[in-house]
Amino acid sequence: ATGTNIRTYFNGTWHDGDIPVMNAADHGAWLGTTVFDGARYFEGIHPDLEPHCARVNRSAEALMITPTVETAAMVEIVKEGLATYPKDTALYIRPMYWALDGGDLGIVPKAGATGFCVSLEEIPMAPQRAVTTLTTTRFRRPVIEDAVVNAKAGCLYPNNARMLAEARAKGYGNALVADALGNVAETSSANVFMVRDGEVFTPIPNGCFLAGITRARHIANMQADGIKVHETVLTFDDFHKADEVFLSGNMMKVTPVSEFDGTIYRSGPMTRRVRQLYWDWAHSDG
Ligand code: PMP
Repeated sequence: ATGTNIRTYFNGTWHDGDIPVMNAADHGAWLGTTVFDGARYFEGIHPDLEPHCARVNRSAEALMITPTVETAAMVEIVKEGLATYPKDTALYIRPMYWALDGGDLGIVPKAGATGFCVSLEEIPMAPQRAVTTLTTTRFRRPVIEDAVVNAKAGCLYPNNARMLAEARAKGYGNALVADALGNVAETSSANVFMVRDGEVFTPIPNGCFLAGITRARHIANMQADGIKVHETVLTFDDFHKADEVFLSGNMMKVTPVSEFDGTIYRSGPMTRRVRQLYWDWAHSDG
């Protein structure tokens, strides 16, 4: 319930407004069995909508919530909603599932007892050049034995919220977060890339963090453009030695980083190149 300009798909149809979808006794309300995904609509395009819909179905399965809408059908539902807006609208597209019932007050979601909705929320503008700063945080990404890190699950985000709150309290824009071994994983809300001597480096997916859809898109775009990209283990020290650092996520696509704990990065040519490659791809294939 963040804005007024929201439309909600629920129970087979689109509704105006941010409508109620959950009941007090829903398993999702009680035990937090919710998953979601986030995609964007701007400049008349919805880049990677299909993989975002496919991922929310995989996220549901990871939480033992039965996904009830096939990916292709979900894409059509979203497109039907998008068609009700003028082309110059900028929207956040958020499909969500939650478990309705654990059966006999049980904690394991009952197969097939699933709630589903899609929320379309107008956000003021298309992704644009916001710059951020990073610091460390004492909170880490859990491993799969600790939490369902193979899902984009609502229940993971309170941990990310305390990372972000800690970073903000120190006067920074976001936290550069460690994995269980103390290497760099991601930030509280985006994946991270660094540039050194004209080559690009990003943490290799190790099950601790969300290997994002935008991250994969940037890697493919850069490789197609002949840029060397290394998915590897990266330490905090590596980030202090970087020439450029940028973040990637569905919301902003590319966010330049100007500082990590006192290390200043110049506003760089690679960051601008990755942004240009994304826009070119999004307006042709996306
Ligand atoms: N990591 C976290 C914790 C996120 O919340 C997001 C945003 N969904 C990302 C990474 C970036 O993922 P994507 O590119 O798929 O949006």
